[in-house]
Amino acid sequence: MSKLIKNGTLVFSNETKKADLLIDGEKIIQIGDNLTGDEVIDAEGCFVFSGFIDGHTHLDMPVSGTVTADDFSTGTAAALVGGTTMIIDFATQDRGHTLKEALDIWHKRADGNCSSDYGFHMAVTDLNEQTKKELFTMKEQGITSFKCYYAYDALKLDDSKMYEMLCIMKEINGVLGVHCENGDIINHLQQKAINNGHLTPDYHPKTRPSLLEGEAVGRFLRLADLADAKPWIVHLSSSDGLEEIRLARKRGQKVYVETCPQYLTLDESVYNLSGFESAKYVCSPPIRSKNDQSSLWNALQNNEIDIISTDHCSFNFKNQKELGLNNFTKIPNGLPTIEHRPVIIYTSAVSTGKITVCDMHRMLSENPAKMFGLYPKKGILSIGSDADIVIYDPNKNKVITAQNQTQNCDYTPFEGFKTVGSVRDVFLRGHHAVKNGKIVKRNLGLYINRGDCECIPSQ
Ligand code: MN
Ligand code: MN
Repeated sequence: MSKLIKNGTLVFSNETKKADLLIDGEKIIQIGDNLTGDEVIDAEGCFVFSGFIDGHTHLDMPVSGTVTADDFSTGTAAALVGGTTMIIDFATQDRGHTLKEALDIWHKRADGNCSSDYGFHMAVTDLNEQTKKELFTMKEQGITSFKCYYAYDALKLDDSKMYEMLCIMKEINGVLGVHCENGDIINHLQQKAINNGHLTPDYHPKTRPSLLEGEAVGRFLRLADLADAKPWIVHLSSSDGLEEIRLARKRGQKVYVETCPQYLTLDESVYNLSGFESAKYVCSPPIRSKNDQSSLWNALQNNEIDIISTDHCSFNFKNQKELGLNNFTKIPNGLPTIEHRPVIIYTSAVSTGKITVCDMHRMLSENPAKMFGLYPKKGILSIGSDADIVIYDPNKNKVITAQNQTQNCDYTPFEGFKTVGSVRDVFLRGHHAVKNGKIVKRNLGLYINRGDCECIPSQ
């Protein structure tokens, strides 16, 4: 039985077009005028996007003696309701353990539990001889993108390991994302704050200044240049980081850049909230100044940012964020955002005229699909592509609240945010899984094997 989406405005890379779209099974089989099909879904007055892809999530992840509030079941259901039909999570190696063990653990957590499609990046924390061998077989497991850290004691690599990792990336044609903050100096600043009795959450941003992001971005990009590897700057938050990216591009380097909705729409005043309330905004890098925010908008409008992901990493305020009630360094880092990225970007960027719906499509769907080896299976409305489709109604406004969210978290950093429009219907590989903003089909998500990164023709 075919499904026909009629009268919608289809969103492509560089144009929008009013047309009908026909789905058969899991694929798009026809796009054109006056098509007929068995079941008709009217999308009059709505945008029809290819499903959004979130290339940066942390679900069911143990952190700081607790586990993220969202697991794969709740997290991917929230993603789907918000229009995200595929996520890529970080399978993370524990030191002393193999990449295979990490991958097995992540599959065990995700398989059979996902309401969106999913894939994994491999996060490497222990680059030994065994790990190096395993990196050459990751593609057989559908993994072509990797992650390393310059911060967090349990995760970070030193520069020589980072350089070795980049050299392996060059050999296996992998993309390497790095959390760019200078963890050694952050440790020093945190210890100093604690010694001085500064234990409240407002010391979180004070001990992670943006210069330490800029420093790590610059260092990583130079090492990537030396190794001739593909660098991906994850969650860019600051003007200091952006300057280093501009320098690298000026010397001819290809750099993939990601930012997140929280860095575009929130500013550091969230850390002035009274009492412990500001712990709700403790994430790393921290929420930055208004100046940083306007630099990021500028970069977004200049086509200097390739993808917008969430870095979703949710912890309840009660009992989880509260682990740091007496010491800000014990607050688990992260925000719940997997559900609201599309509506926040549509509201703050598209409806305000800062970017077009085509730009939004590229940064939330096409570019992540290309960058993470999913294109054209995903990331485009095209014949033969997976029927991952979002019907967005620009006239049905809503208000974001913790009360009405699907994410399994007792707060949202966007409480009271008035949206312009909302996600009405979502198709996951042809399955009509969200109707009128409600999820009606769960657990249809599949693990997707990914191919090599394709160049994004920006900059
Ligand atoms: Mn990070
Ligand atoms: Mn992250």
